[in-house]
Amino acid sequence: MAIITLGTMAFDAIETPFGKIDKIVGGSATYVAYSASHLTQPIQQISIVGNDFPDEEMNELKKRNVQLTGVEIVADQKSFFWSGKYHLDMNSRDTLITDLNVLANFKPKVPEEYQGAEFLMLGNLMPGLQISVIEQLRTRPKLVVLDTMNFWMETALDDLKKVLGMVDVLMINDSEARQLSGEFSLVKSAKRILQMGPKFLVIKKGEHGALLFHEDHVFFAPALPLEDVFDPTGAGDSFAGGFIGHIAKTKDISFENMKTAIIVGSALASFCVEKFGPQRLKEITKQDIDTRLSEFVQLVNFDIDLV
Ligand code: AMP
Repeated sequence: MAIITLGTMAFDAIETPFGKIDKIVGGSATYVAYSASHLTQPIQQISIVGNDFPDEEMNELKKRNVQLTGVEIVADQKSFFWSGKYHLDMNSRDTLITDLNVLANFKPKVPEEYQGAEFLMLGNLMPGLQISVIEQLRTRPKLVVLDTMNFWMETALDDLKKVLGMVDVLMINDSEARQLSGEFSLVKSAKRILQMGPKFLVIKKGEHGALLFHEDHVFFAPALPLEDVFDPTGAGDSFAGGFIGHIAKTKDISFENMKTAIIVGSALASFCVEKFGPQRLKEITKQDIDTRLSEFVQLVNFDIDLV
């Protein structure tokens, strides 16, 4: 089943306690596409790059049936650039540089051949652009998933509130949920956020897993305890790609199936953090993913006799 993905295709500079890299391909849509394409194809990408974005990367994406008709190439400008630094506790990071470059004048256009896609993944990007893509679709997709971040809560809250009223699932991390709701308790945060529009809310807690809220129900998925987390960049986007990839593959948008989808998302995220950039997502096979999924099953599987 086709998934439309919107987001950045970028260059990143990353510093972690374990290494440093000055320029590597990244971007929210890049990670979503690599991750989701392991589960379903085609992926119909909407993004923008400058004249510096490598052809090899475009070809790697095409090989995975990521369609690039919706990716605008601006001949005389640079791609979006982001730089971040992680502390020893890899759950927190500082953004050092956000250079919008081509993104500053981005007006996403949905190509005609993308019309009719049943799933839409709005990756992290200006909320106004996320709204524009939803409004261009003549048939509303079966499921619209939104990823966002604190940066947009601080700079584009009105648009963000508007897009929240147009989507089915919101994905944010715990500190963003607290910021958006003004509540410290994640349960209270979830209640508030579910009143803002989305029917489902995923709160990501980094190495502590993720919570899925819907009406009065809540489900918890752990993150796999990994010996080494090398670079968490893109983990959230890989999670999103795994989540929507599983939903599109199974064509089932029930709460029960979303439980499985957040485990699949967690599995994809667990690969992403093993190397810099999207490298691991390019290397892994279906067998690798299946093995990791069984590790998740083992992690939370136990028997108890209640007398
Ligand atoms: P994640 O670690 O999942 O939050 O995603 C990291 C990726 O998001 C990096 O590859 C960045 O290029 C990209 N990114 C960082 N800041 C932004 C932003 N404000 N809007 C869109 N993409 C961003």
